[in-house]
Amino acid sequence: MIGVLKGLVQTWKTHWRKPVTVQYPDERLPLQPRYMGFPGLIWDQAIGEPFCTGCQVCMRYCPTQCMYVTMQDNPKQAAGESKRRKIVETFTIDISRCISCAICVEVCNFDAIEMTHAHERAGYYPDVVPDLPQLLKMSEDFRAQRGQKPARETRDVL
Ligand code: SF4
Ligand code: SF4
Repeated sequence: MIGVLKGLVQTWKTHWRKPVTVQYPDERLPLQPRYMGFPGLIWDQAIGEPFCTGCQVCMRYCPTQCMYVTMQDNPKQAAGESKRRKIVETFTIDISRCISCAICVEVCNFDAIEMTHAHERAGYYPDVVPDLPQLLKMSEDFRAQRGQKPARETRDVL
């Protein structure tokens, strides 16, 4: 009998508890600051080019092999405007296969990539494969939402 009463009390308390769920997609819970969505590429404001040199280290370490990167000679280096001899040429991430593990961020020697809050990107090919401009925009939007500058303004570059 006592057990039944305890159960009823618990049910009564739970009935009046504020719901922790929302009516998605009409409502959304706020993202936590350290939430990790999909990776984006960071723009170097000081030089006016991506931090990414296209070295492909992230591509080699990505556990789902969803990244594709190519490198080119940096025309700004030839013009004396940048110290980066190589620069990214193309960069795509198949985010339908990305597991948001952040290994690409960990292994990047140039701090060129970061985990953004980008999510809800379900769709069809090629919409789920952002290219270089789209990946740069993902980082830019992420920083704008957080009130950060688009990228660090000064940095020693290689
Ligand atoms: S977060 Fe992980 S799975 Fe996604 S692109 Fe980076 S290394 Fe690959
Ligand atoms: S994001 Fe970093 S690790 Fe990946 S290709 Fe660019 S510079 Fe290399």
